[in-house]
Amino acid sequence: MIHTTQHEVRTRGQGHAVDVTAQVAAAIAESGATQGAATVFVSGSTAGVTAIEFESGVVKDLDRALAVVAPADGEYEHHLRWGDDNGSSHVRAGLVGPSLTVPFADGRLLLGTWQQIAILEFDTRPRARTYVIQVIGE
Ligand code: ZN
Repeated sequence: MIHTTQHEVRTRGQGHAVDVTAQVAAAIAESGATQGAATVFVSGSTAGVTAIEFESGVVKDLDRALAVVAPADGEYEHHLRWGDDNGSSHVRAGLVGPSLTVPFADGRLLLGTWQQIAILEFDTRPRARTYVIQVIGE
C-alpha cells in the first residue's frame, strides 16, 4: 500500500524550523497501514528535512552550526551566476538533504522520545513550502 499526500507550510526564512511529526503520524493513521515506512520530502532546493530534538535551543544551535559551514554573508559562485543572494541556502540544503524516512510499527512512528521530524527553511526570505508525506506499508 502506498499513500501519498501533499502539504503546505509557510516559513519565515533562514533559520526557521517547522515540526511536522504530528502531520506524519496523521498521514500514517489515515493510510490504515500498521507497519512500514513514512518518507517526508520537501520540494525546493533551499529547504531540508531532518530529525532533531525540536526545542528552540537545538533549532538555534543547528542554525548556528550551518552558518559556520555556509555563512549567509559568504561569497558564493551562485550569486555571481544568478544575481541571487541565497548561495548559503543552497549549500545548507545540499548538506542536510531534502528527505527523511522513518519506520513505523503498530501504527506508531519509531522515533525516540526527544526526536521529531523537522522541515528546515534555508532560504533568505519567507517561503510557502510544499512537502510530501509518502507512507509505504501494510
Ligand atoms: Zn538561488
